[in-house]
Amino acid sequence: MSQESAREPRPETVRDIDPEIADALGEEKQRQRDTLAMIASENHVSEAVMEAQGSAFTNKYAEGYPGARYYAGCGPSDTVEELAIERAEELWGADHVNVQPHSGTQANMGVYTAVLEPGDKILSLELDHGGHLSHGHPANFTGKTYEVEQYEVDPDTGYIDYEGLRETAESFDPDIIVSGYSAYPREVEFERVQEAAEAVDAYHLADIAHITGLVAAGVHQSPVGVADFVTGSTHKTIRAGRGGIIMCDEEYADDIDAAVFPGAQGGPLMHNVAGKAVGFKEALQPGFEQYAKQVVENARALADHLDERGLEIVSGGTDTHLVLVDLRPSHPDTTGGEAEEALESIGLVLNANTVPGETRSPFNPSGIRAGTPALTTRGFGEAEMVRVANIIADVVDAPNDEDVLAAASDEVDELTDSHPLYE
Ligand SMILES: *Cc1c(COP(=O)(O)O)cnc(C)c1O
Repeated sequence: MSQESAREPRPETVRDIDPEIADALGEEKQRQRDTLAMIASENHVSEAVMEAQGSAFTNKYAEGYPGARYYAGCGPSDTVEELAIERAEELWGADHVNVQPHSGTQANMGVYTAVLEPGDKILSLELDHGGHLSHGHPANFTGKTYEVEQYEVDPDTGYIDYEGLRETAESFDPDIIVSGYSAYPREVEFERVQEAAEAVDAYHLADIAHITGLVAAGVHQSPVGVADFVTGSTHKTIRAGRGGIIMCDEEYADDIDAAVFPGAQGGPLMHNVAGKAVGFKEALQPGFEQYAKQVVENARALADHLDERGLEIVSGGTDTHLVLVDLRPSHPDTTGGEAEEALESIGLVLNANTVPGETRSPFNPSGIRAGTPALTTRGFGEAEMVRVANIIADVVDAPNDEDVLAAASDEVDELTDSHPLYE
């Protein structure tokens, strides 16, 4: 055997080592190319963000914070985390940012454990009305650790019932009030939640997971400087890869940092922190504001045309990136699950969702939720959203009609082919 052939000819790829996973990686990329991603919490990050996430930082332990690590060799880690923090502070105008939470739920855990004791009281929005598991659901640690009471949206308007929130706050006397939601299409009035929190001497956590990008771009009002704590996701309306962040005033900085590490997590996922840094840099470029505006305009166009096609839009429209449809008035015999399945079969991926006043089970609820962040990343504008609305309405009207499904599938192919992704 010659020296030459004994040497590694090239680095081993996933395909060399693990063809099954290589196939799945390829299938996922192809699936994203060939389908319309309308799950409101999803987006497509840039190749640059993926490069940072798939980097050697996955090997590094960097417990602690920049300049104060528990391990040696953290020079490059400090660079990455400091840049991620600086950019986040600039994007959201926050005094202090922690970029280490592995997810939005971990970010919320950081806040709760920083300021609450087990048995303390959380007031949050009902899950069926658009809330999140990490706001006190019985299956989540929050529901098991804290006492939870919920507020609701007004059943007539679909808007948060701020009066009701305030009354519930007065009777329940919570330690923290949570605003910010998973399936709420309207602008959140953070000042009104803050007033209710101040009236009962509670903290206010604004969880802007879904709208971090909209807030950064100034197309949704900001809770920074209003609420005590702001948490967010970095992979929904901002394209910085999976993860969470926490923002707060300097007075809470040490408590929040200690609650994240060592309180809730071990070593930060430095490859994800690197992805966040790159995605935040992208969001600081001038084009991002235009992107965020288009996300909202696209959601409005979608809501308008679904409405024209006879579907019931919860709250009558949207101010954000998402549209919530209650199928019961127009299609009493079609569940959200059936609509989701029929739409997935033709390449449009959204999710069944509970709606205010839900009468079915959360596993097969009465609504569908559709978001525009990923399609807007692909370059869709309002003209394309009208076509998308027609696809959704056609399929929901006739989920078992093979001709309708074939035509809808062709339409999806045309839209995806003309808006390529990850070429
Ligand atoms: C998506 C979301 C989160 C975070 O979810 P993870 O999956 O844990 O990242 C937190 N709060 C709200 C309101 C959300 O919608």
